[in-house]
Amino acid sequence: MRYVSTRGQAPVLDFDQVLLAGLARDGGLYVPESWPQFSAADIRSLRGLSYADFAAKVMEPFVAGCLTPDEIKALCRDAYAGFTHPAVAPLKQVESNLWVMELFHGPTLAFKDYALQLVGRLFDHVLTKHGKSVTIVGATSGDTGSAAIESCRDRKAVKIVILHPKGRVSEVQRRQMTTVLSSNVRNLAVDGTFDDCQDIVKALFNDHQFRDSHNLSAVNSINWARIMAQIAYYFWAAVALGAPDRPVAFAVPTGNFGNVFAGYAAMRMGLPVARLIVGSNRNDILTRFFETGSMTAQGVVPTLSPSMDIQVSSNFERLLFEFLGRDGVATADLLAQFGKTGAMTIPPATWTAITALFQGYRFDDAATQGLMKALHSQSGEILDPHSAIGYGAALAAKIPADIPIVALATAHPAKFPDAINAATGIHPALPPHLADLFDRPERMDAIAANPSHIKEYVTNFTKGQAG
Ligand SMILES: *Cc1c(COP(=O)(O)O)cnc(C)c1O
Repeated sequence: MRYVSTRGQAPVLDFDQVLLAGLARDGGLYVPESWPQFSAADIRSLRGLSYADFAAKVMEPFVAGCLTPDEIKALCRDAYAGFTHPAVAPLKQVESNLWVMELFHGPTLAFKDYALQLVGRLFDHVLTKHGKSVTIVGATSGDTGSAAIESCRDRKAVKIVILHPKGRVSEVQRRQMTTVLSSNVRNLAVDGTFDDCQDIVKALFNDHQFRDSHNLSAVNSINWARIMAQIAYYFWAAVALGAPDRPVAFAVPTGNFGNVFAGYAAMRMGLPVARLIVGSNRNDILTRFFETGSMTAQGVVPTLSPSMDIQVSSNFERLLFEFLGRDGVATADLLAQFGKTGAMTIPPATWTAITALFQGYRFDDAATQGLMKALHSQSGEILDPHSAIGYGAALAAKIPADIPIVALATAHPAKFPDAINAATGIHPALPPHLADLFDRPERMDAIAANPSHIKEYVTNFTKGQAG
């Protein structure tokens, strides 16, 4: 499989190059040159497989030419072996036509583990094959950092440095990062905001000489391999509920649009997806887009669902590219307009086509609390604030009763104990593998929000000296 950029000006790459490249050189995002097709018989043949073997089958065509079917299967088996639920991604029925898919049984309790546990192994596999190594640098406001660290810890070909805003991530989130004492992992507590952290990471990547001499790499949500790994659980849920013989709708709490784009990709591959329902918090750029056809950036407001507190959904570019007939120039033009003015209006026919498949709903914190409370008193089910927004979007969409809806639960309740407690009066416990999280020793280095200090730190670390 070969990959093309959404802006049409970057070289066409193989899977292993796309994995390591992250962003394309023309500023675009990589997508497969064509969507692999799964016939009804292909989809039926997935029934009865374990999650790992199922996921490997779905991903096989995307890695073809770089990994053999046996290699991707072995990597999947290893990646999902550490998940704590035997089904890996279990479905729980909460209404007659509504299921919650629990995507929080990985090591760091957020759905990001489902992609990153595999991506860390893919990095190691591909780098070792080519005799190379990289240093991954990233910024986090919470979930991504711990999932990335957990996926890269103790891997020989990878070092990882994660920046978080000092004192501005929750204690559970910080400890999930800083209690990983592996020698290839460093945590930087930056004296600044999340935006400062992200600007510093961008500055490091934009210094091409620094980037090349230190083999910098990224595992943020624009990395194609993360989308690819997420496609698997859309197939998994749909097959469990009757695909290919029955269409299924999905409701997805959305920030960067990576997760829900994987649902779109599954549809393009032949999965009967009736509808994709996008849930947002008060940072509702997507809801407003679905309502009006205009994408307009506004300031970010903090909410109970911090992993969705974003101003711009970077993976939306992939959807735009598809709905503009894969016209890289038109995609680049719209994004240039957006970059310059903070707003873009897409052609009416394109908007009509998008909204035939996608719907968006927003929930403020009070509504989110209300959803958590109502579901709990109705069924005993506890959802974290992100997942509650997905559940709320599923209810709001009013899908015909004969179409099953799957609401994606993206974080374990114990990651957000205060919000759960306020809504339901329950204090959710951490699962056994994290029960002693608050007793584990932490390691992190405090550092000023200054790119040159951080470059020096990264240089010392990659040279093998203590950071
Ligand atoms: C990252 C995250 C999201 C948003 O996912 P996107 O792929 O960025 O849309 C939603 N919920 C949780 C818990 C997350 O960690």
